[in-house]
Amino acid sequence: MITCEEFFVEFGDYLENRVSPEILKELELHLSQCRACHVLYDSTCKTVKIVTESGSFDLPKSVSDPIIDRVMARLRTGPS
Ligand SMILES: [Zn+2]
Repeated sequence: MITCEEFFVEFGDYLENRVSPEILKELELHLSQCRACHVLYDSTCKTVKIVTESGSFDLPKSVSDPIIDRVMARLRTGPS
């Protein structure tokens, strides 16, 4: 299984549906087995949904990067 760090490396592309099928499988496996990433993924998706519903369908890097930065910061500093 991939690590949380590897997960977050691909996370931005995953949100934009730009990962290969093999990576997608790895990411979804990690999501199903890692509670921390699942929770963060869930809250990020809600944020992204709000952003995309209020604007265009595409998620520009300028929007997705700050979200991922925040999620990663929370992962590093959060309890566990
Ligand atoms: Zn994880």
